[in-house]
Amino acid sequence: MTTLPASTERSLGLVIDLDTCVGCHACVTACKGWNTQNYGAPLSDQDAYGDASGTFLNRIHSFQVTPDAQPISDVVPPRLAQTVHFPKSCLHCEDAPCVTVCPTGASYKRVEDGIVLVNEDACMGCGLCAWACPYGAREVDEAAGVMKKCTLCVDRIYNENIPETERQPACVRTCPAGARHFGDLSDPDSDVSRLVAARGGVDLMPEQGTVPVNKYLPPRPKDTIAAPEMTDEGEDVLAPFLAPVAETPQGFLGWLDRTLEKI
Ligand code: SF4
Ligand code: SF4
Ligand code: SF4
Repeated sequence: MTTLPASTERSLGLVIDLDTCVGCHACVTACKGWNTQNYGAPLSDQDAYGDASGTFLNRIHSFQVTPDAQPISDVVPPRLAQTVHFPKSCLHCEDAPCVTVCPTGASYKRVEDGIVLVNEDACMGCGLCAWACPYGAREVDEAAGVMKKCTLCVDRIYNENIPETERQPACVRTCPAGARHFGDLSDPDSDVSRLVAARGGVDLMPEQGTVPVNKYLPPRPKDTIAAPEMTDEGEDVLAPFLAPVAETPQGFLGWLDRTLEKI
């Protein structure tokens, strides 16, 4: 049984925008690359040139969501289904059960910034933390025989050997959609806290009582197709503008078209 700090000086974490994530997996690739080349032991692949089994600290799940909306009229269908891409890594919970369940003290939460880490030298690979995490955010590295998880790129965000603009998690730096944000969520004036307040950011599965630091910004509702405006005779007022154009060009353009055809 490992204890959690009573409080932390900061709460570093991620804010992920489900409205703009396009599910491209760039963050997955960047995460795997950075964490294989740097902190701890490399993240293993069981079959590197076959299927994609292996250790990934960040995964994307895609869901099709069908809004529960009534049809606007007989001719306009209800809102269409939309696809939501859902990136998932460790949420660096305030009340992390993966830490308190750890029998060796290998899992711990840092007082200075709230990051939850695994001391791989002390981990015996029992898997209790993976069982305790309600988000499936921990991965047993089969090659190393130890538990691994998102480190919030702790070896990158404090690394004074790289330019200051690079001192962000690899996934945040890489995301082409700008869907990932990093900062101190205990500071109400930080950019991430203001983003969460403006967009109604939410905890993932708050009923679990883990108090995640990471927040998700919900997808915005998509526009519906407006009902067509009809004339008294029951015709769409836009119908004349939607009529097919003449197949044979007329006037100057017709002359030009016929002339060019002869060349
Ligand atoms: S890189 Fe950004 S847009 Fe692509 S899957 Fe990750 S979070 Fe989504
Ligand atoms: S998301 Fe899971 S692994 Fe990460 S701190 Fe919370 S309980 Fe632990
Ligand atoms: S913060 Fe770093 S370790 Fe965590 S998901 Fe992003 S790239 Fe991976």
